[in-house]
Amino acid sequence: MSVAENLRRVREQIDTACRDAGRDPAGVSLLPVSKFHPIDAIREAATLGYLRFGENRPQELAAKAGELGEPFQFVAIGQVQSNKAGLIAQHAAELQSLDSLRLAGALQRRLKALGRRLPVLVQVNTSGEEAKSGITPDDVVGFAEQLAAFDALEPRGLMTLAVNSPDADAVGACFAALAAARDRLQNRFGGGWDELSMGMSGDFRLAVAHGSTCVRIGTAIFGPRPAQP
Ligand SMILES: *Cc1c(COP(=O)(O)O)cnc(C)c1O
Repeated sequence: MSVAENLRRVREQIDTACRDAGRDPAGVSLLPVSKFHPIDAIREAATLGYLRFGENRPQELAAKAGELGEPFQFVAIGQVQSNKAGLIAQHAAELQSLDSLRLAGALQRRLKALGRRLPVLVQVNTSGEEAKSGITPDDVVGFAEQLAAFDALEPRGLMTLAVNSPDADAVGACFAALAAARDRLQNRFGGGWDELSMGMSGDFRLAVAHGSTCVRIGTAIFGPRPAQP
């Protein structure tokens, strides 16, 4: 199967999941995750009109953004150390994995120097697994209140990775926890925070059923990831 065929099929599966959930397919965007895959795979996806891709390592994101240029856009979805904030500030179209005020501060300084603003999603650890980053669901409202001090960041919503488990109830509980955190934010701030980035190759149907507005799909589109370079 080619990247283009996979993309078509995955988009159809998302649309079907939307209809099954009584949702408008236009409310769920597909973010192809191109991490570890070559530029050629990204160009193939672009033949279908996809110009925005998820990357989880700042250096790789910066290299691809530099090579492809406009109108391609790269979204950072992996953990960012504060010393990589400059790469993100310069090259990312969005950061979905904001998980600390320290990183917010580092980004703010870099963005101010560049005269840019950056849309961000706050990553929430909904599974409680130590290996996953993100703030706890209980801390979401307090974190959001403190983010207001960083005016170069434009908070758009929340992101999570569900527990990696065959138990659909456990996976669904992670997605429900993210949606509930978004509801608390909207109550507190009177709106905004609309985006819910949740769902990957193995669990995007369930994420759509729980209100996802952005699914991040790598393997089902690009195939297994090559060994890390
Ligand atoms: C790699 C990655 C994905 C895509 O995972 P697949 O299972 O390959 O679809 C989604 N989100 C994040 C944060 C990732 O790092």
